[in-house]
Amino acid sequence: MKRFVLAALAAASATAAFAEYPEKAVTIVVPFAAGGPTDKVARDLAEALRKPLGNATIVIDNTGGAGGTLGATKVARASNDGYTLLLHHIGMATSPALYRSLQFKTLEDFEYLGMVNEVPMTLIGKPTLPANNYAELVKWLEANKGKINLANAGLGAASHLCGLLFQQRMNIDMQTVPYKGTAPAMNDLLGGQVDIMCDQTTNTTGQIEAGKVKAYAVTTSKRLHTPALAKLPTLDESGLKGFDVSIWHGLYAPKGTPKAVVDKINAALKVALKDPDFVKRQEALGAVVVTDARTNSADHKKFVEAEIAKWGPVIKAAGQYAD
Ligand code: ASP
Repeated sequence: MKRFVLAALAAASATAAFAEYPEKAVTIVVPFAAGGPTDKVARDLAEALRKPLGNATIVIDNTGGAGGTLGATKVARASNDGYTLLLHHIGMATSPALYRSLQFKTLEDFEYLGMVNEVPMTLIGKPTLPANNYAELVKWLEANKGKINLANAGLGAASHLCGLLFQQRMNIDMQTVPYKGTAPAMNDLLGGQVDIMCDQTTNTTGQIEAGKVKAYAVTTSKRLHTPALAKLPTLDESGLKGFDVSIWHGLYAPKGTPKAVVDKINAALKVALKDPDFVKRQEALGAVVVTDARTNSADHKKFVEAEIAKWGPVIKAAGQYAD
């Protein structure tokens, strides 16, 4: 009996200790450069989270590099007080298969705070690329074998995964050019230093709308509804049967972050995901905000587990590794 009372008291005092959370600025680490798709989601989310998180100040820390693994490692090692969070994408599930010596364990080193959204990708090209549609792109790729530059946001990035699958299905090897995020990769694509890239609609929609890049296809199994993207064929209907890549984002805290804090952030996240401004902004960029059970910590983790199981064999078959 006495033991139960003591345990209950300890739990109550732990909860009380975090009742005022957050008492200082909360940092969300984005594992890619500023101005890219993950950064955009994080900044919009920070805005939507501010109020439900007790008018918290939320700071974005862009720690790009190594396809998102540097930023994820930073959060895995950060103090687990709820003041350092991570907003990451599918790379949480693909990096374990891509890296021989990853510095974090996706399923062991984090508290899962909930999923945020799902984002399709688009296959785009530099503005001077002579191909104006997917069929012309295929001809151009065939004619330029050995000379094609494919940009990505580093090994482990979503753009890397998409490019990897595209090369594999086309059976054409391309020279991959890694960046610290989509923002610098996009700059070089706009400048014509690289030829093609596969990246999230959160960043490509504006460039496609403005006619600044060539757009060839979407990576999802169904066409998209966003006005700027509705005309684009899917890769599946263009001949790459079964091609279906969609990126998702989730929020994480270092393992051991107190349950009271995890619950508080999770509750705030659920409010943020229903914020009409956030939903509208995400929809305009082709993203779909998650509203199902995956906004719960346990379901978020189950989903990532399933994604690790899904992508591991695909990546291993593609035979690409980093140290
Ligand atoms: N879109 C990038 C990727 O390929 C990352 C980013 O800059 O958000 O993963």
